[in-house]
Order: sequence, then structure tokens, then C-alpha cells
Amino acid sequence: MKAIVKHEAGVGVRMMDVPIPKVGPNDLLIKIKKVAICGTDVHIYKWDAWSQKHIRPPLVIGHEFVGEIVEIGSSVTGWQVGERVSGEGHIVCGTCRSCLAGRRHLCPNTIGVGVNRDGCFAEYLALPASNAWRVHPSIPDDVAAIFDPYGNATHTALSFEMIGEDVLITGAGPIGCMAAAISRHVGARRVVVTDVNPWRLELAMKLGATHTIDVTKDSVKAFIEREGMKGFDIGLEMSGSGTAFESMLEGMYPGGRIALLGILPPETKIDWDQVIFKGLHLKGIYGREIFETWYKMQAMLLSGLNIAPIITHRLPFDQYQKGFDAMLSGQSGKVVLSLD
Ligand code: NAD
Ligand code: ZN
Repeated sequence: MKAIVKHEAGVGVRMMDVPIPKVGPNDLLIKIKKVAICGTDVHIYKWDAWSQKHIRPPLVIGHEFVGEIVEIGSSVTGWQVGERVSGEGHIVCGTCRSCLAGRRHLCPNTIGVGVNRDGCFAEYLALPASNAWRVHPSIPDDVAAIFDPYGNATHTALSFEMIGEDVLITGAGPIGCMAAAISRHVGARRVVVTDVNPWRLELAMKLGATHTIDVTKDSVKAFIEREGMKGFDIGLEMSGSGTAFESMLEGMYPGGRIALLGILPPETKIDWDQVIFKGLHLKGIYGREIFETWYKMQAMLLSGLNIAPIITHRLPFDQYQKGFDAMLSGQSGKVVLSLD
């Protein structure tokens, strides 16, 4: 089968012919219809320090997909050939304390599809049936293909009650933009998104941000003064930038709540006075709650949330290089590649 492979230690990925994966007793074999490129795939493409530490080529990359079940492992029940599925890319052990307590997203033994084992940028993917998500028939394939990052946005944005609240989102990447859409959908008042990239700030407006701040020319502090605000009630950190996080801490109203998805550099400073004297709550976010976040994602789409404008590029699978180039340019939202 055709697959996009990290073929060697170095920059780039290559389309190659690889064997169809074997279907274990607990697996589903999924014929892939559409995939989407994640920031993680771009890290692997660039062969940055993180990838050099975690990726062992050759590896079929990718973890965002929608497809159709074509074969069912001998021990699997509850699934039928022909069902349309997306899936959770974090494969957990099922036996640790986190898993047994229903906090599967916090399993310390997590294995990442397309990171620690072969992924979905291929004609077929073998996935444990316990990781599959049945996609509602009214949801289009391209939206189902981005359930994974939409799930990151959902998990983060729904961490705290938002009705009537002023929300600050730092980082207008695909996840920040989708979080803006979710925040509006669930009833936030101001949804203010920051970035250093004007193209992405425009995208955030298309997804439903009420205001944007280009922090190369303006600041969160100046915005708060102009609007006559006292500060933000909720912060969603989605840039992975230490300076963005510092401006967020400073911009929070006392009692504010912050959810941190962006992976901050270890040297990021925290002004503890902001946290302690303002009584802020900080919550780290990893992955998606399995499967509570997925229920909420699907329910929001069925009740009118529109995240489709985050898909800015639709390309045939063979044109993956164009897709990676779009991601590298900074002028993209989600890039979806079609195999069908
Ligand atoms: P992305 O890199 O596409 O988006 C980040 C955005 O932040 C970019 O548009 C960038 O221009 C912007 N940015 C950079 N510096 C900034 C600054 N000082 N102020 C404001 N914005 C700034 O990433 P994404 O795919 O949307 O993901 C968002 C973040 O979440 C990334 O850091 C990613 O690594 C992280 N992530 C974490 C998890 C998790 O489980 N915790 C899962 C997925 C992604
Ligand atoms: Zn576990």
C-alpha cells in the first residue's frame, strides 16, 4: 500500500510502498479516506530536536484520519465492516491506575499512533477497536478527519464554565482558532485571540473570535485598557510561547482560570505573584478525555458548531508535499489529504 513514511533520520518524508498492517485480535483494519496534517507531523518532517529524541525511522506518520472498517479482529465485538470511523491516536494500557480510574488520557504508558507506531498516512491503518470513534452520518469526512485536534480544542475550551465570560486565547493556530469557535458556541462574551501572524488572526475571526490582537504591534494589556475591562475570566494557552503565557497571567482578572495546551519551553517564567495574589487556577491539558471529549465534540457539531472554515487546504494524498509546504508557510489552517 501507499504510505507517507519518515524514511530516515533527516529532513522530509517520502511516499513509499509498504505492507498492509496486520490485524491483531483486538484491532480494526480501517481503509483510510482522508487524513489531516498535524503540527506533530511537521515536527517530524523538520526532524527537530523533539523528533530526533522520539521518532525511530522508518515510520508511517500521521494520526488524524477518517476511514471505513474493512476487517475486524477475531476478539472484537460491537463493530461492523463498512462503519465510518475516526479514532483516538493515544493507545493506552488499560491496566494502570489512570486507566482504571477512567482517566485514560493520563495513562503514563500511552503509545502514539504515527509517533511510536505506524500511523494513518497510508491506505490502511490497524487500530485497537477500543480507540475507534463511530462518526455520526451528518458529519462530513473532512471534518471527521480533524477530530483529533478539534478534540484538543474541545478538551481545553470546555475545562471551565464559559457562559458570559471574557476569554483570552493565545495562539491562532488551528487549535486556537477552533477553541475560539467553541467558546462562542458555548456562550462566552468576548473571545479574544492573539498571534504574531496576521494571516492566522484573520482565520481566527472567520472561526468566530470577537477580537484579535497582533502582539507584534499591540498587547493584551493595552487591549484590556482600551476596552475598559479589568481582565479576562478564562485563558486558553495555545501558542506554546512563554511570552504569550506571561501576558496571559498579567491579563487575568482575580479568580481567573487558565487551561494550558501549548507546550511551553522549560525556561518559561511564571510570575507567581500573579498566580497567588489573584488566586488563579492553572490546569494542564493533555490529549482528549477518552471518550468524554469525543461525545462533546460530536454533540457540539450536531447542535450547530461549524469548524469547517479551519480547513484551508484540500489536496489529493499524492500531493502531500504541497500540504507540508502549506503548513510550513504559516499561511494555513488544517490541511486535509484525500485518498478517496
Ligand atoms: P501552531 O503551531 O499551528 O499554532 C501556534 C500559534 O501560536 C501560531 O499561529 C503562532 O504564530 C502563534 N504564536 C507564536 N508566538 C506567539 C505569541 N508570542 N503570542 C501569540 N501567539 C503566538 O499549533 P497548533 O497545532 O494550533 O497547537 C497549539 C499548541 O498546542 C502547540 O504548542 C502544540 O504543540 C500544542 N499541542 C498540545 C497538545 C497537548 O496534548 N497538550 C496537543 C496538540 C497540540
Ligand atoms: Zn494506562
